[in-house]
Amino acid sequence: MIGVERIWRINWLWLAGLAALFVMAGLYMYRYIDDTEAAKTVFLAKNMGGGNLITQVDTRGERIIALTFDDGPDPRFTPDVLDILAKKEVKATFFVIGESAERFPGLVEQAILEGHEIENHTYSHPELDQREPVSFYEELIRCERVIHRVTGRSPSYFRPPKRLYNNEVVKTAQLNGYQVVLWTVAMENKNDRTVKDVVKRVMKKVKPGAIILAHDGTLNRSLTIRALPVLIDELHKQGYRLVTLKELMAYQGD
Ligand SMILES: [Zn+2]
Repeated sequence: MIGVERIWRINWLWLAGLAALFVMAGLYMYRYIDDTEAAKTVFLAKNMGGGNLITQVDTRGERIIALTFDDGPDPRFTPDVLDILAKKEVKATFFVIGESAERFPGLVEQAILEGHEIENHTYSHPELDQREPVSFYEELIRCERVIHRVTGRSPSYFRPPKRLYNNEVVKTAQLNGYQVVLWTVAMENKNDRTVKDVVKRVMKKVKPGAIILAHDGTLNRSLTIRALPVLIDELHKQGYRLVTLKELMAYQGD
């Protein structure tokens, strides 16, 4: 009898110990799964919906907007853009391609000297959402180094080429200190034929805190160049002040 009782007691202790272990392991696993899944969900929610990507700024109704130019510097168009901006006394932001900035550093230097901002648009303008791994980190840092070499400044904003990105791209940019900036309205649209078309379409979508995307490189940008002074005049007429992206961001409400 004593023997049976002892065995039972030993089994009971073993069972209790095992049960306690399972409960502890379960709790640990639950917490672990819960934390990572929650973190992932927050990250996806923020980024898939574009919550962390800047498309416009809340200026609390103040008529301030940022004019931004992608894909330069390009000797065919950048000098004209800089001339127009100087004449109209407007400061803008240039998302440069690192490769081009390396080839035409004089245009980047001129932009900086004239009070414009230079930001990061990758080194070689790849499609960042493609299945084949593009080393995005390399693209980001290589462009950053060129900008730093030419201007002595470090960029703070990143814009993905062709608006193509995924969570990895956003995460890598943010981990490297960048804010990812898209836009509110683009100056280029395949349906526009005339300067009037461009100005009318952009003016319809523009609002306080808007970020206007334009291009000063790669493709033929002559319509953009012709429309630019007319658009700036129209914006001024409607009481808009055009500033760099950094200035616009400073107006962001709390
Ligand atoms: Zn681009």
